[in-house]
Amino acid sequence: MSRATDVVVGGLVDLHVHFMPDRVLRKVWTFFDRAGEHYGMPWPVQYRGSETERLETLASLGVTTFAPLVYAHKPGMARWLTEWAVDFGHRTPGAVPTATIFPEPDVVEYLAQALDEGARCVKVHVQVGGFDPRDPLLAKAWGLLAEAGVPVVVHCGNGPRQGAFTGLDVFEQVLAAHPGLVAVLAHAGLPDFGIALDLMARYPRLHLDTTMVGTAFTERFAPLPSDWPARLVDVADRVALGTDFPNIPYPYEEQLAAVRSWAATDDRLGDAFLQAVLHDTPARLLGVA
Ligand SMILES: [Zn+2]
Repeated sequence: MSRATDVVVGGLVDLHVHFMPDRVLRKVWTFFDRAGEHYGMPWPVQYRGSETERLETLASLGVTTFAPLVYAHKPGMARWLTEWAVDFGHRTPGAVPTATIFPEPDVVEYLAQALDEGARCVKVHVQVGGFDPRDPLLAKAWGLLAEAGVPVVVHCGNGPRQGAFTGLDVFEQVLAAHPGLVAVLAHAGLPDFGIALDLMARYPRLHLDTTMVGTAFTERFAPLPSDWPARLVDVADRVALGTDFPNIPYPYEEQLAAVRSWAATDDRLGDAFLQAVLHDTPARLLGVA
């Protein structure tokens, strides 16, 4: 098997990276510096350079397109974070405009505005946000996203820490109410990988992203099932590269190595799978194919 970047036509498309206003990103890094208290394990963020340096790093890794995702941990943040992310996506080469939502009275208003202004991906963080994705305040927002066909990357799994409303069973109720939604299970639903794949079998528009999955770091507390590569065969066109750059406690290449190892393990995956995961599927989701 050749190196990931060698076989990928069009360069890497990363559906799950984080760029935020500097002040917010510093706070996120401070949080990870105290990961021992929050997660019971150290989390040494690898890529702490300036915004310019981080953009240069992505380019040097072969990433040509990426979705810079933002998320809110309390009400009153999602609107201005979304405005920032739409602007950042428009002014930054390689980035696409994105948005986030939070259950609050003006959510439909700022989401509709972001979609009008070209948002191509939306992040929903059920764990950090601490909200119920079934909140009636979000119903119209989910409907709007389903109608627009804009993918929504949802961190709704129970890892690395359980939240009040995490759990794929909770999010399934959103999918049942909005079956047209193009949702992407962030971190492949970590640690409930099997349940994520079961859900994908029932919801044909449901995808997963690879963020942190299969790296030595997550294998320690959320190991993949041994039949993971074989089970990916049925959903091979619904798996998208995601990484959590820059907030990862290991080099970016480790994620690519994990995807490469799945491709190499099952003959039915191989180079075609690499091309799909690392470029074609995330490019299709972001509408840049
Ligand atoms: Zn993330």
